[in-house]
Amino acid sequence: MVAAYIGLGSNLHGPQEQLRTAITAIERMPETRLKRYSSLYQSPPMGGLQQPDYINAVAELETTLEPQQLLQQLQSIETEHGRIRGERWGARTLDLDLLVYGTDVINTADLKVPHPGLHERSFVLYPLHEIAPDLEIPGLGRVTELLENCSPDGLKRI
Ligand code: ATP
Ligand code: CA
Ligand code: CA
Repeated sequence: MVAAYIGLGSNLHGPQEQLRTAITAIERMPETRLKRYSSLYQSPPMGGLQQPDYINAVAELETTLEPQQLLQQLQSIETEHGRIRGERWGARTLDLDLLVYGTDVINTADLKVPHPGLHERSFVLYPLHEIAPDLEIPGLGRVTELLENCSPDGLKRI
């Protein structure tokens, strides 16, 4: 069993409901147990495109799926939630990022773990800190320490 952390985000078509049904779908993934998940947070969009605020959360899993299989499962849940791939960082019904997979460091064309930018994103670090403050992010350090260097940037716990 490996501990994996998933970042959830949505800013279209009832974001809070999108996250709730995503959590249910994650619970139903094969070879996987949902351990815990954070509160929901509201965050301003990244990247300067005009779009609604995001709702974000982080979930902790235990899984025997390989990282690539886990990514495929997450992408099929995104598709079931009507995700249409448009502009990078553009509005979306559901975004599921594989943040951390045990102590693995992965650097392939379609999968990078720990998720790049994780340590600079308050909407990832704050919810992650809520459920796993002592987690050591491979190559980056402990979540509590990363949080100290990351401003909330308009993030609100809801
Ligand atoms: P960001 O990755 O900066 O948060 P994004 O979530 O908007 O941006 P997407 O359009 O959802 O980006 O994903 C683009 C590609 O990123 C995916 O097709 C996937 O192959 C790749 N990818 C690489 N590493 C990961 C990861 N750790 N989790 C999810 N997708 C990843
Ligand atoms: Ca993302
Ligand atoms: Ca993504």
